[in-house]
Amino acid sequence: MTVPVFRFAPSPNGHLHLGHAYSALLNYRSALATGGRFLLRVEDIDTVRCTPELERDMLEDLAWLGLTWETPVLRQSENFADYEDALQKLEQMGVTYRAYLTRGEIKRFVAEKEAAGASWPHDPDGAPHYPGDRAVLSDEECRRRADADAPFAVRLDMRRALELVREPLTWRECSAELPASPAGPEWFEPDEITAAPDAWGDVILARKDTPTSYHLSVVVDDARQGVTDVMRGRDLYHATSVHRLLQILLGLPQPRYRHHRLILDHDGRKLAKSDRSTSLRELRMAGHTAEDVRERIGIPDDV
Ligand code: GLU
Repeated sequence: MTVPVFRFAPSPNGHLHLGHAYSALLNYRSALATGGRFLLRVEDIDTVRCTPELERDMLEDLAWLGLTWETPVLRQSENFADYEDALQKLEQMGVTYRAYLTRGEIKRFVAEKEAAGASWPHDPDGAPHYPGDRAVLSDEECRRRADADAPFAVRLDMRRALELVREPLTWRECSAELPASPAGPEWFEPDEITAAPDAWGDVILARKDTPTSYHLSVVVDDARQGVTDVMRGRDLYHATSVHRLLQILLGLPQPRYRHHRLILDHDGRKLAKSDRSTSLRELRMAGHTAEDVRERIGIPDDV
């Protein structure tokens, strides 16, 4: 088997919490147990919310947890040109379009439809599917916005994209628990999951001022870095459908996936970066050790 490559890919738009610690340690320990590589990737395409200070804090928290990673670290904000190339490829395939509706316009349109008793599809994160500019705006207004170079999102034309797919749309999912050390081949035994990207509607691939989205940059970088094993939280399970579709369209290899349980707060809710009580920094400041954190999230001590 080729050497497995794992990655942890946080966004420095806030401080890391216990959920990040769990994901980072699972990836790190899995790399150790399989004789694989562990990469850290800084997903900072949102150059407003992600700051150098938060990135510095993030690396410090991860080092405090006991992690080491290969350098140089890939920073997405330094690679916009590569995502633009991928976007252009999709544009040339005729599977993208510029979408000019604002969030408010989409919301209002869908609210009106729903108030009138129509059901409107929502994506797995709860956002309404894009209705299309022409469902909401007059032809003249569509032209005006295009001529005025108004703000737009580049969206994937899901119907057209799916028409181009000739192979079964599936992904390989393995169970996400920590492997025994050394890990046997059975740890890599995947199940075949049917991908359903159409559940997302016409997803955003880029915006006028940001030449990529999470979906696009994550598939470009997993391929570029030779990632063989994507291990991340279950909150991204359904996003994998979109990632597989983009991999097929762009001719990129497919990694194995593992979607792990989420660490929840006392009320059973997903942790948020804004919640200080589960922030690794706050815990550290309050005198907790990395061992305390590992114990709290159920990662056994180093062997
Ligand atoms: N950057 C994403 C996040 O912080 C994770 C991306 C991934 O693991 O695919 O939620």
